Amino acid sequence: MRLLLLAPPGAGKGTQGERLAARYSVRHIAAGDLLRAEAQAEGRLGREIAAHQARGDLVPDQVVLDVLTPVVVEAAARGGYILDGFPRTLTQATAAAELAARLGVTLQAAVYLYAPDEVLTRRLLDRASQGGRTDDRADVIRHRLDVFAATTGPLVPYYKERGILVAVDADQPPESVTADIEAALSGLSLPRP
Ligand code: ADP
Repeated sequence: MRLLLLAPPGAGKGTQGERLAARYSVRHIAAGDLLRAEAQAEGRLGREIAAHQARGDLVPDQVVLDVLTPVVVEAAARGGYILDGFPRTLTQATAAAELAARLGVTLQAAVYLYAPDEVLTRRLLDRASQGGRTDDRADVIRHRLDVFAATTGPLVPYYKERGILVAVDADQPPESVTADIEAALSGLSLPRP
């Protein structure tokens, strides 16, 4: 199983990524978590990643590719992955597709989770009030949603053109979202869990 979750902040990529990874027994690769771990490292690269994440800007493509590529290659060799938050730009998508084609492990589905901005903002502010992340702040949230619309949004038609896009309404309880994803995937000819 090789699947990508494409979703704005607050749509539940992390939650669904964990659930799907457990269900299909593959690795959940959360780009934001891997980059946050890199940001803890001493030195210039860590500081650069941390600064981008704090502002809600995307980390530069080359940095993301350097961090994510080895993880994706290893997971592909072990049976697959649920990609959560990578690729997130057309440049990353093109690089990932070239690598996957070279390794013979192209993506089987791109699941687009959508919900209204008000719902996404409310969820992120709730998470912040429970001691969440430092980028869960009203102004940074607004910026992350704008960055998604401008930069990651174009990946929706990109994967649609490639015939692997499934769109799922994320404004529902987590179990219902998972059920809808599984129903949508069963319509594609994918390996069963
Ligand atoms: P969210 O989707 O809620 O913003 P993530 O943990 O997925 O949460 O991402 C948090 C931050 O990590 C982003 O705002 C961005 O700075 C960085 N990031 C994550 N994935 C990528 C990516 N593929 N490309 C560039 N930056 C990324």
